[in-house]
Amino acid sequence: MTLENPDLAISQAAELLPITEVARRAGIPEQALIPYGRDKAKVEVSAVPQRAEPGRLVLVSAMSPTPAGEGKSTVTVGLADAFTLLGTRAMVALREPSLGPVMGMKGGAAGGGHAQVAPMEDINLHFTGDFHAIQLANNTIAALLDNHIQHGNALDIDPRRVQWKRVLDVNDRALRQIVIGLGGPSQGTPREDGFDIVVASEIMAILCLSTSLTDLRRRVGDIVVAMTRSREPVTVRELGIDGAITLLLRDAMKPNLVQTLGGTPALVHGGPFANIAHGCSSLVATRLATSLADVTVTEAGFGSDLGAEKFLDIKARVGGLRPDAVVLVATVRALKRHGGAALDRLEDEDVEALQTGTANLRRHVENIRRFGLEPVVAVNRFPADTPAELEAVLAWAARQGVRAAVADVWARGGEGGTDVARELLAVMDGRGGEDFHHLYDPQDGIEASLTRIAQDVYGARGIQLTDAAPAALRRLQRNGWDRLPVCVAKTQYSFSDDASALGAPQDHVLHVRDLVPRIGAGFVVALTGSIMTMPGLPKQPAALRMDVDEQGRAVGLF
Ligand code: ADP
Repeated sequence: MTLENPDLAISQAAELLPITEVARRAGIPEQALIPYGRDKAKVEVSAVPQRAEPGRLVLVSAMSPTPAGEGKSTVTVGLADAFTLLGTRAMVALREPSLGPVMGMKGGAAGGGHAQVAPMEDINLHFTGDFHAIQLANNTIAALLDNHIQHGNALDIDPRRVQWKRVLDVNDRALRQIVIGLGGPSQGTPREDGFDIVVASEIMAILCLSTSLTDLRRRVGDIVVAMTRSREPVTVRELGIDGAITLLLRDAMKPNLVQTLGGTPALVHGGPFANIAHGCSSLVATRLATSLADVTVTEAGFGSDLGAEKFLDIKARVGGLRPDAVVLVATVRALKRHGGAALDRLEDEDVEALQTGTANLRRHVENIRRFGLEPVVAVNRFPADTPAELEAVLAWAARQGVRAAVADVWARGGEGGTDVARELLAVMDGRGGEDFHHLYDPQDGIEASLTRIAQDVYGARGIQLTDAAPAALRRLQRNGWDRLPVCVAKTQYSFSDDASALGAPQDHVLHVRDLVPRIGAGFVVALTGSIMTMPGLPKQPAALRMDVDEQGRAVGLF
């Protein structure tokens, strides 16, 4: 989080392999490679020979984080390099970073230290343009919808019931609620509108869940953008633009190939946030990786309550995926934070706070076990961690009967991840994912699914529908949309909908304030607490420290 953060310097100093060599290592034939410069490429999936049996899949999740992040991407990348060092053919599948956190508070999402995907400046900035394509596709729907209203409104769209918002990949709180179409008849129909961040858009979710371009087109067509004056849904297909929108996304659908600093092939593709969306990289990239590698390491955003739950209940269901092992990234600093230590004292040794904070990690362990999977705790070692603190976490895990090891990948790259990798191999050589099952059955209805997640994963007493949610539920039922999986939008800092309730809050009530149908994506978003689908920037955004030197090299990215 400081100017001295070495991620950028390490990445800039790295000697990268030509992307053709990375592809060769991955088993991607040259005719499937669409190079974007020297060290990035898109992959034409249909030109890659698929093997019958997929390789093993490791899902990386974490305990509830502090605002700086606990190093989940870092550990994901480091573990893939560790598997490579152990002689396993490995690949990593990650999400693309959003410029919201890059310019705002948390920074990029290319990993850190000696466990990064590279080139990090490109990946963290515009990369291969996927987010721009998604933004444009989303906003083209908005423009064509307003144009339809302007030119006679043959579909009888009710301008007060348009649910399709515009998107932007920058945190811009001033655009959360706006009025458009002001200025007279030739400027459109005045109506309330608003912007979400790109990573919350339905197009992003669709891109990440589609199995092919044909599936993408079907899902885009299914998007419900508005209601008519007689309260009937209006879809993108009815607007007649499902073909045009799919065309705009043609290249974005192709996974991006890069490399880790350890030379492991990496697919970085798609990037929904896990607190306001489903939080997993694209299904096509995961499938491509598992069809090529013996072990694929992939990440789902934030803790087991958010990204992992959605990976296991949404993405795995759509894609027929079965993880063979799960990693829970824990840090000494997050454990101390959940044990009551102040944010500005997290570098001070405090074994007692750490012991108290294990309540948070324990709940994450239990959550993964609820899916029939056995987690391995990876203690992501930070420079300020003391031997007594690291020992205390490992001793706690041993007492609990949880597999655990220190991951020192930030400082040492893949070599620092071999202990965790060996624990994972032991899990995978045992029952692995044989007992995996989803948590709920969508056929039981949205309320039942939400209650199951709230009680079993969040430790809540139950759910309460507030504000717009009761009427939204009736609309879902009337349209037959109440048997879809549910994607909960919730703060990442707490198991509850109150970001300040740290540790393992019990018997709280999950407040659901709205239920938004995302028919193209195939789920219903449940907005809880005060979570926003367009974040704001902090008082001291990261952008203040960024620059570019005379050679065009980035300065101040982290
Ligand atoms: P997450 O994926 O959990 O959000 P990241 O992997 O993006 O977290 O890491 C967040 C930040 O913390 C990055 O700037 C990264 O360099 C830094 N970081 C991660 N692990 C370590 C570590 N072990 N020591 C020091 N810094 C670290």
